[in-house]
Amino acid sequence: MVDDILRTPGAVRDAERWTAHNYHPLPVVISSADGAWLTDVDGRRYLDFLAGYSALNFGHRHPQLIAAAHAQLDRLTLTSRAFIHDQFADFCRELAELCGKDLVLPMNTGAEAVETGIKVARKWGYQVKGVAAGQANIVVAEGNFHGRTTTIVSFSTDEDARADFGPYTPGFTVVPYGDLDALAAAIDENTVAVLLEPIQGEQGVVVPPEGYLPGVRRVCTERDVLFIADEIQSGLGRTGATFACDHEGVVPDMYLLGKALGGGIVPVSAVAANADVLGVLKPGQHGSTFGGNPLACAVAIEVVRLLATGEFQRRSAELGERLRAGLEGLVGKGLVEVRVRGLWAGLDIDPALMSGREACERLMERGVLVKDTHGSTIRLAPPLVVTEEEIDLAVAQLAAVLAG
Ligand SMILES: *Cc1c(COP(=O)(O)O)cnc(C)c1O
Repeated sequence: MVDDILRTPGAVRDAERWTAHNYHPLPVVISSADGAWLTDVDGRRYLDFLAGYSALNFGHRHPQLIAAAHAQLDRLTLTSRAFIHDQFADFCRELAELCGKDLVLPMNTGAEAVETGIKVARKWGYQVKGVAAGQANIVVAEGNFHGRTTTIVSFSTDEDARADFGPYTPGFTVVPYGDLDALAAAIDENTVAVLLEPIQGEQGVVVPPEGYLPGVRRVCTERDVLFIADEIQSGLGRTGATFACDHEGVVPDMYLLGKALGGGIVPVSAVAANADVLGVLKPGQHGSTFGGNPLACAVAIEVVRLLATGEFQRRSAELGERLRAGLEGLVGKGLVEVRVRGLWAGLDIDPALMSGREACERLMERGVLVKDTHGSTIRLAPPLVVTEEEIDLAVAQLAAVLAG
């Protein structure tokens, strides 16, 4: 019977044969998806508890987002920024309003949003703060993940991400994450910005000590330094609020957004800031051929509208408590520690038991897809459309894996 021949092994081999090995994917080959569920080439179904590293906050193929994409595909897909298109103003205004900022600068990938933030902060430093030419410095945190460009990996503390990609871009100072005194001590007259993830996602959903983010805000204001929050993974509903900074009532000078902004359909990123900051850019000084294209804007407008209702943030907060309760019940039963904010969890598995990779492979066999971050740490980030039953199912499968 043809049904007995699994297509997966051949499809895995083919995929590995023709690509650089810059990823180590789980041996599963997905062919369709809906909401929180994935289906592989053999028709097996899996719960998606990674959600594209938060790029799929609204689940796979959310009807409102798919409808917007289809409608836009039938009208207009690309103009370049040389001309204005009819989706641009609505996107920028609605996202600016969601962020409580004056202006938005659309880009495509997260790394481009980070690069944009760095460029804007440097220009602001020279033109507004009065930093001496070529001296601008940005303070960043140990364990950061901001993307993969040559400048961004220059201040990574992950040797895999950084080694052999030099010469490195100067102008960054790395301080321990969560240590306000160290951060304040690293700031001098040349410091233009502090660039942080309010929760470090790739590091394993590391939540800084309470009071840290308000402290960073205070120090930045006192020392005339821009606070740039990289909310590319933590933002747009993931943590049970629009932004992870909201949990501590902190408003950064600049939000960096990406991932979920594209609705799981197209890459969309953006920088949001007030006019005294983003206004330093003049024509010709920065740009992107695809940034803010009509298809991207049409999808992202609907993303912003989904978020504007607050429904997804509420779901994330409420269901996150169920996820937390389930996971905390496994501490001491294979888990050493769990960190949960909304529908976002970092789990440290007892390293004597198994590696994160092993746990992910065993969860895959049980129909739940997740990814290790490093060592024995794995991250759970289900789409925000996940149900209580699906959360319970994933926790039960994790319990079974940990029980051996
Ligand atoms: C994913 C991510 C980025 C980079 O986004 P890309 O779209 O992969 O370039 C930057 N910062 C954070 C916090 C991220 O999680």
